Amino acid sequence: MSRVVVCTWGTTGGAEELLTLARGTAAALDATLGWLVLGPAPHDLTEIASRQDVPIVDRIEDEKLQSFGGDVAIAAVAAYARQHDFRLMLVPQTFDARVLAPRVAARIDAGVVMNGVGVGMEGGVLAVTASAYGGDTRVVYALDAGRFVVGIVTSALTAAPAAKPASAVTRHCPVDLAGVEERVRVVARSEAAGPRIEEADILVAGGRGLGEKANYRLVQELAEALGGMAAASRPIVDEGWAEPARQVGLTGKITRPTLYIAAGISGASQHMVGCAAAKTLVAINRDPDAAIFKYARFGIVGDCLEILPALTRAVKG
Ligand SMILES: Cc1cc2nc3c(=O)[nH]c(=O)nc-3n(C[C@H](O)[C@H](O)[C@H](O)COP(=O)(O)OP(=O)(O)OC[C@H]3O[C@@H](n4cnc5c(N)ncnc54)[C@H](O)[C@@H]3O)c2cc1C
Repeated sequence: MSRVVVCTWGTTGGAEELLTLARGTAAALDATLGWLVLGPAPHDLTEIASRQDVPIVDRIEDEKLQSFGGDVAIAAVAAYARQHDFRLMLVPQTFDARVLAPRVAARIDAGVVMNGVGVGMEGGVLAVTASAYGGDTRVVYALDAGRFVVGIVTSALTAAPAAKPASAVTRHCPVDLAGVEERVRVVARSEAAGPRIEEADILVAGGRGLGEKANYRLVQELAEALGGMAAASRPIVDEGWAEPARQVGLTGKITRPTLYIAAGISGASQHMVGCAAAKTLVAINRDPDAAIFKYARFGIVGDCLEILPALTRAVKG
């Protein structure tokens, strides 16, 4: 029987969401589900594996895997892939995954698809739907026979527990990493201080419709009144109205808030990638035909320069 394996490292986000997707895929392929964890495991590994009905969790632990390093992680996964059969390996598409997935695929002579947003069966053939052209369009790849490594954008997925939780068996899979050294050394890392929009429950985001830098304070004031954080579209970050750490979207942050208020944002696909997983999206735009209204649960057609302060006053009572 073939296997569908989810590969994560350290405490990468999106593991549980990806396991839910992989469980459905494994069922459709009549395959078994596996989870390969490199280096330190999430603290709730056992609970997640049980909720997701993963029968076997494979762990590769090595001093060299304490933090992600491309050369070591690739060597570890490739060695695992030579010892353990699978049809499909799914990885959450993080920055590190862009380094890992294609190089692992090349080493084990597997196919690779990146920017995946879904996996399913199309006419009896395994298929991956992926975003292309910076998120502007979707493509469907039919995966022929053979092995594939697929990067999946997990922000739009939701985790659902299996009908029957299981107790997973953990296998320790030693691999020889003695001769492997990192060729790239990180000498400095940018550290963002304070809370991060990726973790915020409430976000108020402003776009070019704010008109000028000074008006970004209207976004900040509503965010503060709601106990949330201010976010931004890319053009206003490029203009210096908001800091880069606040940018939502394809080249910014992927967020999953409960509430996302988008003010003066048109709804370009590259922006929506970063907020599509919001539970409730409220759009304020003076153009009734703005694309953002297609995604919004609540839409306000009007001038955000008037509506934002009115909402702030209403919240403050
Ligand atoms: C490869 C690539 C990556 C990208 N990555 C990102 C990304 O990560 N994040 C991102 O945001 N963008 C990204 N972009 C840019 C993206 O395509 C859009 O250009 C951008 O999201 C538009 O920003 P905006 O909605 O603020 O501005 P606009 O598209 O100019 O929209 C402004 C909106 O405000 C409305 N408006 C104007 N005045 C008012 C008013 N007074 N009151 C209410 N509404 C008003 C207008 O009707 C309009 O809908 C990327 C593009 C590419 C090609």
